[in-house]
Amino acid sequence: MESEYGLLVDGKWTSPPGAARFATKNPATGETVGSFVSATADDVRAAVGAAAKAFSRWRETPAPKRGEILLDVARRMRAAKPELGRLVTREMGKVIGEGLGDVQESIDFIEYMAGEGRRLFGETVPSELRSKFCLTVRQPKGVVACITPWNFPTAIPNWKIAAALVTGNTVVFKPASSTATCAAEVVRLYEQAGVPAGVLNFVTGAGSVVGNALVEDPRVRTVSFTGGVETGRDVYVRGAKGLKMVHLELGGKNPVILMDDADLALALDGVLFGAFGTAGQRCTATSRLIVHEKVYRRFLAMLTERLETFTVGDPLDPRTGMGPVASADQERKVLEYIEIGKKDSTLLYGGEKLRGGAYDRGHFIRPTIFETTHGSRISKEEIFGPVLSVLRVGSYEEAVRVANDVEYGLSSSIYTRDVNLAFRAIQDLEAGITYVNAPTIGAEVQLPFGGVKNTGNGGREAGSVAVEEFTEIKTVFVDFSSRLQKAQIDVEA
Ligand code: NAD
Repeated sequence: MESEYGLLVDGKWTSPPGAARFATKNPATGETVGSFVSATADDVRAAVGAAAKAFSRWRETPAPKRGEILLDVARRMRAAKPELGRLVTREMGKVIGEGLGDVQESIDFIEYMAGEGRRLFGETVPSELRSKFCLTVRQPKGVVACITPWNFPTAIPNWKIAAALVTGNTVVFKPASSTATCAAEVVRLYEQAGVPAGVLNFVTGAGSVVGNALVEDPRVRTVSFTGGVETGRDVYVRGAKGLKMVHLELGGKNPVILMDDADLALALDGVLFGAFGTAGQRCTATSRLIVHEKVYRRFLAMLTERLETFTVGDPLDPRTGMGPVASADQERKVLEYIEIGKKDSTLLYGGEKLRGGAYDRGHFIRPTIFETTHGSRISKEEIFGPVLSVLRVGSYEEAVRVANDVEYGLSSSIYTRDVNLAFRAIQDLEAGITYVNAPTIGAEVQLPFGGVKNTGNGGREAGSVAVEEFTEIKTVFVDFSSRLQKAQIDVEA
């Protein structure tokens, strides 16, 4: 894998002469991973122009054919998985099992979307009139901007790119700067699989320059954005000025409710995985544990005891439980929240940056648990790091009230053996995703993914509904009566 990358515009990798560059860093070691162009607004305009030019040919390519190209991307990605998974770990810091998992999620989704090339269903609908046939077809939107975060450096880009391409759109892709190498290597696989020039373009650089130029370009009809709430709001407002469709997948403050009848050993595994998997940097990470008072002390003792054997260290070592957080910025932000927690809550475990030896080269934070009360900042704001806030409640009703009283609604979970409570929770929890007797993380690509409230603006990624974000529905009326027939609304009573 080379380490110096350009922009991909109209099928050519280019490094504009004299362009400023930035580097990505391994968060475990501080080593440089890749070097990238800080694109300008003009570079972005060129990329959008290439995508606009390529659109008419790509939309005319039959959808099953587009799906076949995706299958070839998936095949190539499977072959590249060991190397690409390692790259995810080196550039983002998640442990190697999760780095490989990131790539597996990409493969699964690309294959799933390849099949969509042979579906892309419309509907046939009965007409009020004789000799009239009504149907809907899905059509691509045009140029799509895909803007992605760093926490799933291959999976989130592929969720967007594969769905956008199979439905016949052309794409300008802007990845998070800190994981741009993973993004560039993904783009290479699409290129190698035969995605034509201009159909997938790749631009790197600051969100405030590249992101803004993309969102504001009138030729971009749809913006597919995953990231933080504040950025998402800004993107939404800018996109609204151009009356664009802006699809947002934003933050979370995901709760696990632990009832007094729960299988505590099962819940222990789930809570640890949910809270400290990917160092708490999944949008669906368990960041609140809402525990019934009857099992509160016992479960907290189990949790802290287990953490004594939980290893934090080299993410490339398969025995490591948790790697570093993803960047210096992330480290700063998480440590700030830990300081806030120390003031308004009780620190139960961790609460510090790990130091000494290899830790000094990277951004390692000890898994952290606070006992807190509902309403504290750490109980309500997204921290996006290995910090779990534990809240004590006296009843199911209180648990749901606490769970719902945040601005987010992505994932949620309840551990209980009471089937009635489980179904009540499915109904009551304000979230796009609810797990029963499983942690808040664990997406499967064939199911819709997204959230309510400030987590998004109503759309869903993945699953068969993924195509909705990237298609317009055309309604078609075919009248074969050979006379003017009027629908009921146009006929006088
Ligand atoms: P971020 O909002 O800082 O950045 C996301 C992307 O937006 C990056 O590519 C960034 O460069 C770009 N960007 C920044 N400013 C921009 C602008 N003005 N215009 C256009 N683009 C701009 O988020 P992040 O720190 O990369 O990711 C972490 C956040 O993402 C967390 O809040 C997490 O919950 C969220 N997330 C949500 C989901 C989900 O599906 N709901 C999934 C993963 C991550």
